[in-house]
Amino acid sequence: MWRSRHLGYRAYPELVEAIRGLEGEGARLSQAGTSVRGEPIWCVELGPPEAEALSVLLAGQHAMEWIGVEALLVLLERLLTDPPADRRVLAFPLLNPDGYARAARLLRWRIPWLTRANANGVDLNRNWPTYWQRGLLGHLPGLESWSGSGTRPAGEPEVRAVCDRLDAEHAAGQHIDRALSLHSFGRMLLHPYSGSWRAPADRARHREAADRLRARLPRGYRILQASRWFPWLLAYGAELDHLHAAYGATSLLVECSAGGRSLLSPLSWLHPWRWYNPRNREREARAIGTALEPFVRGEG
Ligand SMILES: [Zn+2]
Repeated sequence: MWRSRHLGYRAYPELVEAIRGLEGEGARLSQAGTSVRGEPIWCVELGPPEAEALSVLLAGQHAMEWIGVEALLVLLERLLTDPPADRRVLAFPLLNPDGYARAARLLRWRIPWLTRANANGVDLNRNWPTYWQRGLLGHLPGLESWSGSGTRPAGEPEVRAVCDRLDAEHAAGQHIDRALSLHSFGRMLLHPYSGSWRAPADRARHREAADRLRARLPRGYRILQASRWFPWLLAYGAELDHLHAAYGATSLLVECSAGGRSLLSPLSWLHPWRWYNPRNREREARAIGTALEPFVRGEG
């Protein structure tokens, strides 16, 4: 399982190069903000600037979930070959660069350790304003920074960067009607809410969109309301809730692939990075990116 340093995936500098390379294919590239350690939070934009409809795409919030980032890059490349005529696409392909780089170091040093958070130790997907809650330890005096969900809603620079950009788009009258966030754990399509038992008023619209996506994805994807996945544990401050509640988007979280554990490689079960990332990166990323494309174009 240790044939190459990153097991067939791209290290952080190569990934940045790939994101920057999208500019040469016609994307408009900007920096939405910087991470805790000062790395850029890239924003990739395509489609006519005057279009009112807007699709928002996120990936790479969790440090080890690399296949989601790769699938988003495939999706962007496909969109760039024939950009939509009537909507813009705004993508944040790597929201946790510090975490990604840390995961790459662990891989290089062959340390089987689970890592998920940003450089402040915050799970970015618990830091979004909708249904945000302080984590358990964060209620104790002096331990606020151990909250796990941050000390305040959108208090982490990575989440703040996206919220600021989307708030500005929303205030300018842009209609954010479709949103996808790519993760990678166990082939699922999750819809709001994650921080509440209640279903959104337009649950049916979310289920229909998820049904159409599932029909195009590789086999085995399940559709669930996010809060019903681990029924004893609501996840507060998640992006899919915020993208729906704050902007009105049909908002889905895609858990890309079933990871790369294999019965033929017992060691793979002991390595957390392998729980998330399939062995054939290119094939899996292509299948997922292709399946998501019509939804992002506002078609499916
Ligand atoms: Zn995740």
